[in-house]
Amino acid sequence: MKDCIFCKIVAGEIPAYKVYEDNKVLGFLDIKPVNPGHVLVVPKEHYLDLNSTPDELLKEIIIVGKKIGKKILATGLGKAINFTFNNGREAGQVVDHVHLHIMPRLSDDGYELWQGKEYNEGEAERIVKEISID
Ligand code: 5GP
Ligand code: ZN
Repeated sequence: MKDCIFCKIVAGEIPAYKVYEDNKVLGFLDIKPVNPGHVLVVPKEHYLDLNSTPDELLKEIIIVGKKIGKKILATGLGKAINFTFNNGREAGQVVDHVHLHIMPRLSDDGYELWQGKEYNEGEAERIVKEISID
């Protein structure tokens, strides 16, 4: 897709440090890592986000991500890993080409997770009705 930075990386039009490549999926270092070794796994075909990506391709992305994550743990670049899809602007998605973040984590590395809100009276019961899948 024109003007998509990750499509340009896939096409070799802009450089990236590649750690994995097959005919469907590419893994490369994030240019601004949470910690060194932070990898992005993308499909070579352009899809906006997780919701629009075919299930079979998502499986491949996650399986590749798992393999890369194991390497990150084995090298000690991370003691643990966050696997994340930012899906939509409010969720922090900046690049509109679906990507799995594989983020090596270390003690006290500055990455902030959420604080954890409380449910109001009856709210959990209402929400569970709204989002349960039959
Ligand atoms: P998002 O916020 O969309 O989930 O994450 C996009 C990620 O892409 C960011 O972590 C950002 O550092 C990374 N990124 C943006 N532009 C480039 C680039 O040109 N090359 C590489 N390797 N990573 C990029
Ligand atoms: Zn793209």
